[in-house]
Formats: sequence, structure tokens, C-alpha cells
Amino acid sequence: MFKKIKGSNSIGIDLGTANTLVYVKGEGIVLSEPSVVAVDSTTREVLAIGEEAKRMLGRTPNSIVAIRPLRDGVIADFDIVEKMIKFFIRKVVPYKWVSPRVVIGIPAGITEVEKRAVRESAQQAGIKEVYLIEESLAAAIGANMPIYEASGNMIVDIGGGTIEISVISLGSMVKTNTIRIGGDEFDNSIIQYIKKVHNLVIGERTAEEIKITIGNAYPSKESKKMEVKGRDAGNGLPRTLIIDSEEIREAIKKELEEIRNAIVETLEQTPPELSADIIERGIVLAGGGALLKGLPDFISKETNVPVIVADNPLTCAVLGAGRYLDELAKIKQRKF
Ligand code: ADP
Ligand code: MG
Repeated sequence: MFKKIKGSNSIGIDLGTANTLVYVKGEGIVLSEPSVVAVDSTTREVLAIGEEAKRMLGRTPNSIVAIRPLRDGVIADFDIVEKMIKFFIRKVVPYKWVSPRVVIGIPAGITEVEKRAVRESAQQAGIKEVYLIEESLAAAIGANMPIYEASGNMIVDIGGGTIEISVISLGSMVKTNTIRIGGDEFDNSIIQYIKKVHNLVIGERTAEEIKITIGNAYPSKESKKMEVKGRDAGNGLPRTLIIDSEEIREAIKKELEEIRNAIVETLEQTPPELSADIIERGIVLAGGGALLKGLPDFISKETNVPVIVADNPLTCAVLGAGRYLDELAKIKQRKF
């Protein structure tokens, strides 16, 4: 989805591992597309970007590969990331536009060299003023957390390729831990489980659909069932299978355990005063993975800390990036 914008001076971009979003002050979210680039595997020529590239996935000759250049929260291929950033900006920002300011949300773990590449790509797309912000900080702003106060706030951003667990106080990051698993890893584990236990081969899209439809991280009365279509691993013929929430929970057990461990570890590394605040206010979940049913209950039970899902988990990072400069101006005014 995208729409050309007429003119504004503040733009937020969320460069996610799975989805890229663009927010424009006064216009709302003007672009939301998968962070996918389709490339010719021999010539490395870029054939499609975003929605169109994702549609090509699994439906194209072997010579075309779909790349998710930010998949692990680091930039694996600079050239491709640059093309993707330029493409998305040019898609919504008119060519000759009076000095818009752009704030780009980036993963906490990226290096100075990677940051420069992101900044330069935006500049090449015609943006003069480019600011970078840690994605978690942007998500916390978008989730309306009181991050500028002298108190502890914990946000767990569960994206497609990574999970970022951050403690924020006085407007900056006190502690961040990134784990290289995210929503995609859940899908992979579902594929492997169904293959191993039911001898049925399913694709990534089906696995994601199963996760969203019947996935549940915490035992509940409303166990759901779903019919799954796939290919028999033995005879190669199409077959259907009925699967339920309990089995899916079993399939994603390892990922849930890893999320739990990473949160506990981060809490252990947090200064005691700040953890006291977190225990009182609760941990906030953001990112698409926060929508997994039962996840708040699971994390809360495992950590003994209340857990809240952000109002708009898929869009809070881009909203926060878009609001960042205004907020900074307000803070500066407050200080004398
Ligand atoms: P990123 O910021 O890394 O681009 P997103 O925040 O857009 O990632 O989240 C994408 C992930 O969220 C995907 O793995 C997707 O499967 C997952 N997701 C989206 N909606 C749901 C849902 N309702 N239940 C569980 N997972 C979901
Ligand atoms: Mg994200």
C-alpha cells in the first residue's frame, strides 16, 4: 500500500526486518510494504521491491531470488538496502520537495558504517535532513510510554527477524538486548514440527497463517483447530490435516523459551531502581509478534511482571519516528 504525499516537513520511516512503513505528519501512514527485494541471481539486477517482490516469492523461476536485506537486524547487502530505501522514499515523496526532515528507525545493533549507508541512501533519494533513531525508542514513543521521565520503561519489540528488548529512561536507551529470532522463526518451527510429526510439507505462508489463526503461547480454554493443506513428504501427494493450538504451542516451545530467557536476562542487568518501575508499570510488547495470542500471559507468568501490548503494535515504531522531532523540540522548550 502507498500514496504520494503533497507536502509536509516531518516524515518517519520504520525499516523493519519484515515490513517497511512510512508515516507523514498530517497524512498518516502513507506506505506499508514488505522489506523484500527480488533479484536476478546471476546478474544481481534488482527486479522488484516491496509488495511486488513478495508476490514473486515462490512463484518465479529459480533465477530470481527474493532477499530480505535486513532480515537479521543487520545490513547484509548494502547495495540492495540502499536501493530499497531509495525506492520507498521516491514512491511517496514527490521529486522536488521543500526540505522534508526524515527520521529513520533502525535496529539497535547496527554499526556506524551501516548507519552511514542508511543516511546516504535517504540523502540520495533527495532528503536533506536525515535523523536516525533506535527502533525500540521509536516504538516506545509511538506506544505513548513516558520515556522522558526519570523512570524505567521496558519495551519488547518482536519483529519478523529479531526481538529487541530495551530499557529506556530519560529519553535514552539504558540497556538493549537483541536476539536474532523473531516471528519468522516461529513459522520455521511450525514447518519443521508438521513435517516431523505429521510427515506433511507446508510453505512459509501457510505456517504464518497457522501461527496467526490458531497459535497461542499460553494454555487456554479456547483451543482452536484448523485445516492445513500440504504435500505428503512420503508420496508427494496433496493431503490435508487438522491441527490444534496445543500442537502449535509445542512446535514453538523453543522460541517462547528464548524470549523468556532474554527478558529475564535483561531484567537482571537493569539497575534496581529502574526494575522497580518496570515491575510497577509492566513490560510493553510491540511489533507484529506481540499479536501472538497468549504471549502477554506467557511472559507475565514467567517473569512475574505485568505485560501490556501496545495499542498499535505494528505501527507504533513508525508513528514514534514521525513524532520524534516534535517531541524533542517540546523537551528542549521545557528546559528553560
Ligand atoms: P519488523 O518490524 O521486523 O518488520 P513487524 O513488527 O512488522 O516486523 O512484525 C512482523 C512479524 O509479526 C511477522 O513474523 C508476522 O508473522 C508477525 N505477526 C503479524 N501479525 C501477527 C499475529 N496476529 N499473530 C502473530 N504474529 C503476527
Ligand atoms: Mg519493527
